[in-house]
Amino acid sequence: MPRSSTSSLERARADQLKQLRAGLPAVLRGNPFYRARLHDVRGWDDFERLPFTTKAELVADQAGTPPFGTNLTFPLDHYVRLHQTSGSSGQAPLRWLDTAESWAWWRRIWAEHVYEAAGVGARDRIFLAFSFGPFIGFWSAFAGAEQLGALVIPGGAMSTEQRARAIMDLGATVLCCTPTYALRLAEAGTGLGIDLSASPLRVTIHAGEPGASIPATRDAIDRAFGAYAMDHSGMTELGPTGFSCVMRDGLHLIESEFIFEVIDEELIATNLGRWGSPVIRYRTGDRVRLSREPCPCGSPFPKLVGGILGRVDDMVTVRGVNLYPSQVEDIVRRHPQVVEFVLEQRRERQMDEVTLVIECTDGAVVAERLEAELRQALGARIGVRQVALGTLPRAELKAKRLIRIS
Ligand SMILES: [Zn+2]
Repeated sequence: MPRSSTSSLERARADQLKQLRAGLPAVLRGNPFYRARLHDVRGWDDFERLPFTTKAELVADQAGTPPFGTNLTFPLDHYVRLHQTSGSSGQAPLRWLDTAESWAWWRRIWAEHVYEAAGVGARDRIFLAFSFGPFIGFWSAFAGAEQLGALVIPGGAMSTEQRARAIMDLGATVLCCTPTYALRLAEAGTGLGIDLSASPLRVTIHAGEPGASIPATRDAIDRAFGAYAMDHSGMTELGPTGFSCVMRDGLHLIESEFIFEVIDEELIATNLGRWGSPVIRYRTGDRVRLSREPCPCGSPFPKLVGGILGRVDDMVTVRGVNLYPSQVEDIVRRHPQVVEFVLEQRRERQMDEVTLVIECTDGAVVAERLEAELRQALGARIGVRQVALGTLPRAELKAKRLIRIS
């Protein structure tokens, strides 16, 4: 490792330790969930001896002490916002409370890092294609946009068609939504004779799925909107953790607000500005590759190369070849005729059989070509089955790309 990046890591660690030591005493005093798990941290060694936090522990805690669980540092009347996870993995949603201070922390990170990297400012009109329910989703993007002084347009309780029209009619310059939804919005626009690539949109910001870091998906979104697609990572439990830069080869992790570790290719994170309901050494379940090489964009932050590569539990093994759904997506999205897809995984005789199920625009036949491309690019035999248009489920929040059939 070059000398300069070693010392920048040391500097980052020293700052993180300072923030941790400032926030931790209140947690040790008042937070029943963490009081039993943590000890005082004086140096980095102490930090590394803290136990990991898992989602299963948080879920069990909340089930045992409903409705909010015990990861609360302050009395309940200090909290001003309730959010919950999307519950997309089949689990009950996890509720999360924020104080005014911790919500201000979310808002500031969006304004100072995510929007800043995307070149978004006070003159922009930001359209949020998001249903403003209890899922945290783009609520923080909304708050951050207000802090910037931009014009924020909430696109909740609208059909896809209404959203496509609103973007044109209101002259939106920035769009925030999931990558899958962006493609669906563009498709709906085309069906209505609305060419969103001719809209005033110049930047699109995506989260919830890895798509905006998958080259073929990102290119498809760029083309559909005639804009520049950016990736953002964040979690309900953690906060807004990262953003893509002009190099478009990964996500910078916001090390000034979190401590990040990578253990066995899994991202472990500790937030440093949400002391009312913190997570310490949280196992994110995201599989990543971290680089501390300086980035030509000038960002001081390390980079997840290629973005979030997949979920640790999303890996499938086809005759000895390990695969993540994002690798398949990168090939599928090179075919604009494919409008939806899922991977079906069957376990037979201790081996995974994986089939790609696709929906195409009318009359398009790409199954055979896709099979050949997948075999060539991934070295694995994945059967491709085409189904009628409208067969596969459509997700507004997070598309489930891997379906396990036992
Ligand atoms: Zn960069």
